[in-house]
Amino acid sequence: MAAVKGLDMSQQEFLIALQNRLGVDVVLTGDAIEARYHTDWSGTPPVQPLALVRPRTTEEVSAALRLCHEHRVAVVPQGGLTGLAGAAVPVEGCVAISMERMNAIEDINSRSMLMTVQAGATLQAVQEAAVEAGMVFGVDLGARGSCQIGGNVSTNAGGNGVLQHGMMREQVLGLEVVLADGTVLPMLRPMIKNNTGYDLKHFFIGAEGTLGVITRVLLRTQAQQPRAKVTALVAMPGFDESLAVLQRMQQHFGNSVAAFELMWDSFVQTSIRWQRLQAPFAESHPFLALIDIDGKDETSLCEAVEEALGEAMEAGDVLDAVIAQSQTQAKTLWKLREAPAEMNANMHPPINFDVGLPQSEIGKFAQACQAAFDARWPGNHSIFFGHVGDGNLHVSTDGKTVNGECDAVEAELYRIVGEFHGSVSAEHGIGLHKKPYLALSRTPQELAAMRAIKAALDPLGLMNPGKVF
Ligand code: FAD
Repeated sequence: MAAVKGLDMSQQEFLIALQNRLGVDVVLTGDAIEARYHTDWSGTPPVQPLALVRPRTTEEVSAALRLCHEHRVAVVPQGGLTGLAGAAVPVEGCVAISMERMNAIEDINSRSMLMTVQAGATLQAVQEAAVEAGMVFGVDLGARGSCQIGGNVSTNAGGNGVLQHGMMREQVLGLEVVLADGTVLPMLRPMIKNNTGYDLKHFFIGAEGTLGVITRVLLRTQAQQPRAKVTALVAMPGFDESLAVLQRMQQHFGNSVAAFELMWDSFVQTSIRWQRLQAPFAESHPFLALIDIDGKDETSLCEAVEEALGEAMEAGDVLDAVIAQSQTQAKTLWKLREAPAEMNANMHPPINFDVGLPQSEIGKFAQACQAAFDARWPGNHSIFFGHVGDGNLHVSTDGKTVNGECDAVEAELYRIVGEFHGSVSAEHGIGLHKKPYLALSRTPQELAAMRAIKAALDPLGLMNPGKVF
């Protein structure tokens, strides 16, 4: 290995040992490490790692971690780098382990509805392989082409299918993980029932790479159904009525309610303005919901949806409703929900939140936030929308309308999240960005238990240090 400038002797010795063990093709150093490995989608300032390791096998991951352990070098696992919390950004002097070469779909069993994949397989590759085998994989999100299953597991990703299928945790039946000292934990047992002590895999789901490197994943899938889909846009007078409509639809259609996206009027008016859309109803209403229902036959499903919404109207929960008569009309209705794509162009900058709340509290929480913002920043532009069925609310505020006081807006909103006993991160994790607010969502006792688990599995604190805690 050519000497890398600016490194001390022990770092040089470590890199030589790493390259001797794994080869120069697997271990990159210095300028050979492309800038894309220096940060993730979150916009966190880039850091060049001491080395980038791109293993092809679990054994190589294990060998790399063992050497890092011996030399006390920090390790940062990297998936598709689409994370929004800065969790995969290298720390000074670390080894970044990119899982991109471990991307095989190893096994698909359409009888048992299970797949075994390497952690570096992209979500899209897993979805496509499932469909080819007559199955459906239950997690979907916008970054599907780049994010990896290992990253999805490590962030316990949510996304579009949560109402029907749950989050990533619900799709994981088994994991293979390499611990900080190189020990391989093989937990890939294809069994649903296995009550033999602690279910260790759950520690690693949502751990953001702080406990070990996930190398292989045993995934659950669902059977493909003959699909018809009906989309409705429904107007409601209040938040409680919105929940009543969701409940009524779930009573009628059970798990076939595929989406229930609630939009506050502030969001709807903003979306119409930004995207130059036609207003969907003659007058504006406090809340609109986009509802997707799955079924087998479009005509009978449409009639059933009409009947359910008619009942809701009689009960006073629905003010107006439109049911799409074609997939083109459905797309037009869903356009209303696409305002977030316009945020960067229209908010300077957008201050975005992705919080979890007890479902029944979401309406009051939004009111409390708007009131607190109005008191401190009169004229602020804030919009509220979310996957209310999952208890997940998004809030976006235009930085320009709060005098650029982005940190103060964050502190204010997260303070209110704490008051409502909510979660400062519904989906994206803690990483670096939400560390200051973690204690608003977790008690000191919970944090102490988390630290004890971290200390037991990674006593030297080498796995993704400085993230989460
Ligand atoms: P990375 O960003 O590379 O890493 C994320 C974390 O996982 C880091 O802590 C990293 O150390 C760790 N990690 C990665 N791989 C491993 C491994 N093999 N072993 C151990 N630790 C590992 N998220 C949602 O939940 N829902 C959404 O709807 C959603 N939509 C998005 C849309 C867009 C356009 C973008 C850019 C992001 C979106 N995200 C969403 C966020 C992001 O895509 C998810 O958090 C995703 O799960 C991250 O996967 P990744 O492979 O990119 O992980």
